[in-house]
Amino acid sequence: MSMDFFHLEPTARSSWRLAVLMGANTRTYKFALGAALLDTAAEGRSEILLRDLAVPYAMSLVRHLDKAPQAPSAVVPGASDFLAVAKREAAESLRLGHPTEELLAASVRSMPAMVMQKFHNLRGEAELPHRFYEVTGSSRERVVRLSDPLREIARPEQAASLRGELTARWSIVETSFAAEIGRSLIREGVAVDMTTLQITDKRRRRSVAGVTDAVIGFQHGLCLICAEPITPGIDDIAVDHVFPYSFMRMLGPVDHGTAPDLDAIWNLAPAHASCNGRKSNGPPKPAELIRLAQRNEAIMQSPHPLRRTLQLTLQDNGYNSTRSGEWLTFIQWVSLL
Ligand SMILES: [Zn+2]
Repeated sequence: MSMDFFHLEPTARSSWRLAVLMGANTRTYKFALGAALLDTAAEGRSEILLRDLAVPYAMSLVRHLDKAPQAPSAVVPGASDFLAVAKREAAESLRLGHPTEELLAASVRSMPAMVMQKFHNLRGEAELPHRFYEVTGSSRERVVRLSDPLREIARPEQAASLRGELTARWSIVETSFAAEIGRSLIREGVAVDMTTLQITDKRRRRSVAGVTDAVIGFQHGLCLICAEPITPGIDDIAVDHVFPYSFMRMLGPVDHGTAPDLDAIWNLAPAHASCNGRKSNGPPKPAELIRLAQRNEAIMQSPHPLRRTLQLTLQDNGYNSTRSGEWLTFIQWVSLL
């Protein structure tokens, strides 16, 4: 199923999104590696010593460890576990501004098997259609060769969106690891604060990530209305209600079972502010509805709270949350209400 997402836009960027947005998450190492790779490739480099790549990798992990758990709260790492070393060395590394010798050594030792081999694996047996690096060199001095596809996606116009998506995804995953929040997120999914356009956990209403950064990757970084790229930092971005508020007035107050909540993730999509302004309260075009269904199917391939949120929308309205392709059926139903 996640390959449908790739075939809609068969590029290196889609491969990257498969890895970062849709892979399994039991730790957050993949996000730390992804950020370090994007930064290194953005400098135009074609290779880097593993011990040099390990520096930004380890530092972003300890910065995140400082704020949130980086593994499910049920996991108690053994003393030699990399996460245990990172916890022990976090305060001193942050004080120094670079990893301690022990943290650096543990990173270099663990990265090849723990994260670098797995980065290109999809759930199941499949591999990503693109490879972003190869680890070469001897065991004494490993070298990471950065591939052309990686340097291509690290170009500024592509990388800005990918960095935002990676940060949002990291935040969503680590939030779901925290015991109390994790349980409520898994049961209830997330809400959207329409004033700040932040995704929040329903229990504490605490901000988890921005709506745009959290979902734009699942629509390939494209405006849902015109299907052209949205460039962060250049284009003004709006969060479009695909089914607009005028629908909500028609439907009356939200009543589970008869009308879905239009202020929820399933109906919210980043768009150019200009496209959104032109659309105003007009109804969505058929092509927009197909793109929305495809975007939601892609989110359903992504573990953790966003998928849960969409499952609940389907279930609350009497739809099957395990059948693939259900989003198009659901969206056609809403458009006929
Ligand atoms: Zn547009």
